[in-house]
Amino acid sequence: MTDTLDIKITQTPTSRLAETDFNNLPFGKVFSDHMLVADYEDGEWKNFEILPYGPIELSPAISALHYGQAFFEGIKAYKHADGKVSIFRPDKNAIRFNKSADRLCMPQLPEDIFVQSIAALVDIDRNWIPGKANHALYIRPFMFATDPFLGVTPSATYKYIVLIGPVGPYFSKPLRVKIETHYTRAAEGGMGYAKAAGNYGSSMLPARKAAEEGFDQLIWTDAKEHKYIEEMGAANAMFLLDGKLITAEAKDTILDGVTRDTVIALAKDWGITVEERKVSIAELIEGAKNGKLTDAFGAGTAATIASVASISYNGEEYFLSDPQTREFSKKVLATLDDIKYGRSEDVHGWNYMV
Ligand SMILES: *Cc1c(COP(=O)(O)O)cnc(C)c1O
Repeated sequence: MTDTLDIKITQTPTSRLAETDFNNLPFGKVFSDHMLVADYEDGEWKNFEILPYGPIELSPAISALHYGQAFFEGIKAYKHADGKVSIFRPDKNAIRFNKSADRLCMPQLPEDIFVQSIAALVDIDRNWIPGKANHALYIRPFMFATDPFLGVTPSATYKYIVLIGPVGPYFSKPLRVKIETHYTRAAEGGMGYAKAAGNYGSSMLPARKAAEEGFDQLIWTDAKEHKYIEEMGAANAMFLLDGKLITAEAKDTILDGVTRDTVIALAKDWGITVEERKVSIAELIEGAKNGKLTDAFGAGTAATIASVASISYNGEEYFLSDPQTREFSKKVLATLDDIKYGRSEDVHGWNYMV
């Protein structure tokens, strides 16, 4: 299983590191010097290569562009005070990568190859990892279909690519969120649990409409009745209601988030009751009114722990407690940061050292 992956390496002769402004890192706009590319052909993965980041040539007929055989992952690497580098739980992303591939009729990538390929790229560009608080190296692995013909049928060829780049915080302030009751992100039997590119394309119009109404994010509801909370934008929605941590069960329509899983593990460590179940809009509104909803946040790799300032439903806005005073999410964030940046013991074995 753990054969060392053979990767051809071509270093860039002209690093962009010195000219990169690490005090201004808009999310997803800055890429490091290198990227990793591999091909799937004749039923196997081959041509693993790390080369200078830049454009690649593709046929305009590739089926990823026409029929959406494409999906991605999001992971972060952190620099510790002593210079060590860790990637947070990439083994979980490896498993999810293959779940997405399976749903889209795309080939599996062995988990150890996924993790090794990412670690090799992070290692080469380790000087690109910001050392500042709340900063990290964002890792974007993705796969897409490359057969150059028009036919609604699984491609026989694919590319696996990994891009990395330094990032700062995703959200700068607590969010005003709107509970969406018309548009849906995912339906039972659909592909909500996959990090499929198409799921994000379809979210943009509803997100823009909500933004025009002044909201920062949407909370998606179930496609059947619009009565139950699903996710918050591209993060899992989590709540502390009556002292219990509640969140939607990770089934068909829910992306099984690594951050979600991590928050649940911490809550259990602390003896907090965790309920993964249907979360009704009604109980949240009730909790917002009677003060029993003491915490609400989105959990995701990009967003980390994104506090919810207010929840709007049917034109009514319900303000929650001041995020600065919320014990649970503040403790989660502090505990997570201590582990990720190597300041406390990694008792769960979440850090993959590079
Ligand atoms: C990526 C993503 C999440 C968060 O998953 P993490 O593994 O924690 O980054 C949650 N919901 C959706 C829809 C996502 O795309």
